[in-house]
Order: sequence, then C-alpha cells, then structure tokens
Amino acid sequence: MKQYYEALGVKEGATKEEIKKAYRKLAMKYHPDKNPDDKEAENKFKEINEAYAVLSGKQKPKQQQPTGFSGGRPGFTRKGRTIEMTITIPLELAFHGGKKQVTYDIHDKCPTCNGIGGQEPSKCNQCGGSGMLMQGPFMFMCNNCQGSGHLFTKPCGTCHTTGKVVSKKTIELNIDKGTTDRTLIMGNGVGNYTQGGTHGDVLFIILIEKHPIYEISGLNLKRKVNIPVLDIMLGVDNFEFDTLDGRVKINIPKLCEPTRTFRLRGKGFEDSGTGITGDLYVTLNPTLPKELAPEEEQLIRQLKETTNFEKLEE
Ligand SMILES: [Zn+2]
Ligand SMILES: [Zn+2]
Repeated sequence: MKQYYEALGVKEGATKEEIKKAYRKLAMKYHPDKNPDDKEAENKFKEINEAYAVLSGKQKPKQQQPTGFSGGRPGFTRKGRTIEMTITIPLELAFHGGKKQVTYDIHDKCPTCNGIGGQEPSKCNQCGGSGMLMQGPFMFMCNNCQGSGHLFTKPCGTCHTTGKVVSKKTIELNIDKGTTDRTLIMGNGVGNYTQGGTHGDVLFIILIEKHPIYEISGLNLKRKVNIPVLDIMLGVDNFEFDTLDGRVKINIPKLCEPTRTFRLRGKGFEDSGTGITGDLYVTLNPTLPKELAPEEEQLIRQLKETTNFEKLEE
C-alpha cells in the first residue's frame, strides 16, 4: 500500500479528503490533455489514477508480482499484462451514470487443455524448468519452452501449447454519474490470460462521444436554443426547452440581446467524487421564418415605416 500513498505524495494513513485533494491536484497537472505526447506524464497519470482507485477503495491493490518472467518457478502466479482499451460512451450515459456493455477480443484460457498447453509435461531441458536463460548479466525467455519451463509429450491441438485461445469477452462497466472525458476504469482480471496463470487487467479509458446539441467544458455544459426573432423582440414568459435533466423554463425579456447566454446553475455535470455540480449555459439562436406570405411581408413593411423602429445606435 505504501507505494500508493507515495504516488499521491501523502503520508500513510492520510484521510479520504487529503487523498482526494492530492489526487485532484496531481490529476490536473498530469492530465494527458495538458501534456500531449508526453509519455512520462501519461505514465504518471496512470500511476496516480491507480493509486487513487486503490486508496479510495474502488480497486483492489495489485498483487505483488515478480518483475519479468517467472516461468515455472513455484510460488508465483503469472498474470497477463495489463492492456488498455478506449471505450466511447454517449453523453447522456456519462451524465446520468449507468451500465455500458463492452465486447472485445482477449486471450482466454484454452478450454481443451484448461490453459496448461498439453498433457504429460516434462521439464524443459534447455532452461531446466525456470523458463529463463542467462546470457552474461542478462536474462532471456527460454525459446524452447516459451518461458513456461516445460514441454509436452502430448501438446494441445487447440492452442498448440500456448494455453490460450482468442475469444470474445463481454462485460458490463459501471459508469458513475457525472463521468467526465478520459476517466479511467480498471477492470480487474478481465484481460488476457497467461499460460498457467491468471487473467490480467484491462485499463478502460472512457471517452465521451461528440453530441449534436451539447458541448462539454469541464463540468459545465453548453447548448444553443432556437428562438423566433419576433419572440426575442417581444419577450417570452416561460420559454421552454430540453436539458439533460428534463425540460426547463426561462423568461426572455422584451428586446433581449439576440444571442444572450443564460446560465442555469446546477444543470451541468455532477462530479460523483466531490458532489460539485457544473452549470448549463444556454445561448439564444434567433431564427427567421423560411418564407413570408404576402400579407406578412406587408405587415413587416408597415412596421418598418413606423416611428423609431429602425433607429440604430451609432
Ligand atoms: Zn525452457
Ligand atoms: Zn490448449
């Protein structure tokens, strides 16, 4: 656990609030959006996300694993390497939260040999069962046994001794209410199987699909609403339109600025961690009729000729 506290720069046993504060500060600093093409920042970002996920109880700590190849050595469980996957979700799902079904290809345990690779294994004579070969100061994976430490008298015909087959996996991801773009979700044990070991993890990177109406800016949302130009001139009480949170009404004053932006407090994204809610900014988009009937045109011409209708400010 110590390394997780260190990753966030807090002392061991720090409170939830301290952890959250430290996480937000670091996440902001190392966010991939702010550090494009910076591999180091990206790794740091993953590290602090994992640390936060573990310390906030959302994720189990990684098992201590030997680095490199553990081959046939007893006492260690080999685990598939963590893979990354990008998942796009609709804005509505990110806003309200819910479930997202994802299907992807993984290396699964071979059903024929149960992931072992064959029958009647015997110790590899090249590496002596360690799965590794020393060459000077360097260690290499044994080519003879592909690092497994053993060979089979009866190799599995399905997986050809790899212990793995490619298969489709479908899981359901829990999308928190107020999930923002590039949120990371760690899928424990839902990744690639490794021979004689266990399934690795998948780091899901959640992206939010571009929406035809709403634009996201941090926790805030922006949208335009169409409004007939005459309504802007005369004003509308209880002008009604949709938000992600249901229909709302606003009052448009007479002779309103044609592209005025109204701020609707608390109608933006809600950060499930902090409970902070963003706002919805609604900008008027004046619309004209597609065509004018002769009598309508007549009326407008009359209007134009009246007293101060067309007086412009210099
Ligand atoms: Zn070997
Ligand atoms: Zn097999």
